[in-house]
Amino acid sequence: MTITETLARNRGELEVKMRDLLAKPVFIIEMDAFALPCGCKGVTINTRGLQYEDLDIFEEHIRKYLKESSEGLEIEPSFLFARLVPGTAEVASLNSRVLCNRCYMDFARGSGKRPRPDIYILNLTRRE
Ligand SMILES: [Zn+2]
Repeated sequence: MTITETLARNRGELEVKMRDLLAKPVFIIEMDAFALPCGCKGVTINTRGLQYEDLDIFEEHIRKYLKESSEGLEIEPSFLFARLVPGTAEVASLNSRVLCNRCYMDFARGSGKRPRPDIYILNLTRRE
């Protein structure tokens, strides 16, 4: 299977699971694999209809689904987070990112789930 075929299948499966979980029309409008100049790489899952409240209530399930999705794309699920739209109830995206050393240090320094107003951490695996 090509990378785009894998993304397409994964997108569809995750959307179905999120809709079943939340019992409302959540859309995954785009799933993008990325690589950044700093060395970070991963996947951005852009959502519509997902709200901060859903994360709060169904965090455990959403973490599990995001982990499965990430593994399905062969991306180590070491750093999972949601990107919020500050000042609104909206979740803009779910993300799995394999952090480069520098970005890892930046995130590892912080504590709690909300190191920044636009970031809600679902999982950060600490390095030795
Ligand atoms: Zn980085």
